[in-house]
Amino acid sequence: MKKIVCLFTILLLAAGICCVAQAEDSLQNIRKSGVLRAGVKDLTPSFALADIKTGEISGYDVDFVRAIARRLGVRLEITPFSGEENERIDALTEGRVDIVAATMTKTKEREKLIDFSHTYFVTAQKFLVHKGTVQRLSDLKNKKIGTVDQTTSVTNLRKSLPSASIVLFTGYVPAFLALQNREIFAVSTDEAILAGILTKAEKGVFEIPKVSISREPYGLGVRKGHTSFLRYVNQTLLEMERSGEAQRIFDKWFGPESEAPLERTFRITAK
Ligand code: GLU
Repeated sequence: MKKIVCLFTILLLAAGICCVAQAEDSLQNIRKSGVLRAGVKDLTPSFALADIKTGEISGYDVDFVRAIARRLGVRLEITPFSGEENERIDALTEGRVDIVAATMTKTKEREKLIDFSHTYFVTAQKFLVHKGTVQRLSDLKNKKIGTVDQTTSVTNLRKSLPSASIVLFTGYVPAFLALQNREIFAVSTDEAILAGILTKAEKGVFEIPKVSISREPYGLGVRKGHTSFLRYVNQTLLEMERSGEAQRIFDKWFGPESEAPLERTFRITAK
């Protein structure tokens, strides 16, 4: 009996130690180090793009992680992910960043590897084409369409346009260059990303027709099981919505006065 009680005590102690280790999640580490390490996709206009002269990366995603760092009272350190799509997940699971703000759609597959915050942006997958070439989805049948591997964009395309020949690029900007050179018929990804690219394109030549193939809710990614940090991030997002800061950031990048005006069809809620 004594042995059983003893074993039971050891198990309880071990569970306690595990809890302490669990409590020591990203939140504690960030506070201790005084740095929030955030990963962004730096070739994504309006979300995260480096200024050619200063090299400073700015955009909707950057503003969200900056707000979280500010509330934590720590410095923000940005890690740019250019190209490599898996970086968004790998950088988190390998502990190279604490948070990922990278136009990342919340999916069941990704949720097996990382945790997502409340939705902080919603868009839809559309197409960027030469003006007047596409009115309906069937206009894209059997066409060469450019997108990026390891994204929901490629999965959605395979489902909605099985006849299309999908051309994979390392990023949406190189895909756009191929569209410009008429090597492909369209670029397909989230409308908000396409709208950002359109701001850099020659005016009046390209357009995003009203043809949509999916809804894309974005979440901030954090390491799996780091519940204190996830809770903190979610509280910050809800507070940003309540205070109007989330709307102000949206308006800065996508509001009527911005270069890439879009409708804000969502609110940040605890769902
Ligand atoms: N939001 C989609 C995804 O997470 C496509 C855009 C992107 O590459 O970020 O895969």
